Amino acid sequence: MSERIDGAGLLEEGARLLDQGGGAVWAEGPVWVPQLRAVRFSDIPNNRILQWTQADDRISVYAEDVEFTNGRTLGLSGEVVQCSHGHRRVEVDRGGEVSSLVERWDGHRFNSPNDVVVKSDGSVWFTDPSYGIKKAAEGHPGDLEYGDHWVFRFDPATGEVDPVVIDVEMPNGLAFSPDESLLYVSDTAVELPTGEPNPLGGHCIHVYDVQDGRRCKNGRIFKAIEPGLPDGFRVDEHGNVWTSALDGVHVYSPAGRRIGFLPTPAKVGNLCFGGDDGRTLFVLATTSLHSIRTTVRDAAHVVRIP
Ligand code: MG
Repeated sequence: MSERIDGAGLLEEGARLLDQGGGAVWAEGPVWVPQLRAVRFSDIPNNRILQWTQADDRISVYAEDVEFTNGRTLGLSGEVVQCSHGHRRVEVDRGGEVSSLVERWDGHRFNSPNDVVVKSDGSVWFTDPSYGIKKAAEGHPGDLEYGDHWVFRFDPATGEVDPVVIDVEMPNGLAFSPDESLLYVSDTAVELPTGEPNPLGGHCIHVYDVQDGRRCKNGRIFKAIEPGLPDGFRVDEHGNVWTSALDGVHVYSPAGRRIGFLPTPAKVGNLCFGGDDGRTLFVLATTSLHSIRTTVRDAAHVVRIP
């Protein structure tokens, strides 16, 4: 295992990576649920949702037969907003009651929404690659109804659904900068549909300027992530990007300089900040949940958790 790098004091002094347990085949989509003091996450191939509760330090099954949920986040009222490969939609879980938020654009069903963020204005932004309709273990076989893989913005206030990023081959993780002037989107397509290599490398985090709070312009590569793929990532309150990779969690400054590296025992799918003060990083490394104390919180913390 490579050595930890923490030149910017991102980790609490003496912090250790704790193994909180596992049992997943492929763990994804973590969110800290403050009301429950718990981390909820997807075990996609097992088609279930697991939950680690801080009070008893245990992982239990939160729900089964969940139509292959993937990424999740908190809505403005503390509800859990999550992606469903099987339902091809973004849905909301309010205390165990699950209902659809958005399922179609221009009459077409989505492919298999993968990851989601809620902006401070309440709009719901999500990526729509095709893993859930192309990989048998992660959903149900299906076609690309609108013929591509985009990032969408859904406005619950008006019902509007708009594509906001259309030039990433396989959009996967996404997150806003602290002032929401930037949107980061990862591309995890190693190949194009033609079988040719993705000219942009397929393992990059892209960044866009957000205009009028609702349009993405001026897309460029923020960083190529090596080794592995930037499946899921989060941005902290200082604008640093904490991303998954094959060998652990890599942290990049807003200027794209690598300022941190946290090695993990297995490939990382996704991560989130949480805990009572928001400064614990929770990392899903393939089968297991890990945690470590940091000195920072999620960029969205101040608007999401009262
Ligand atoms: Mg993902």
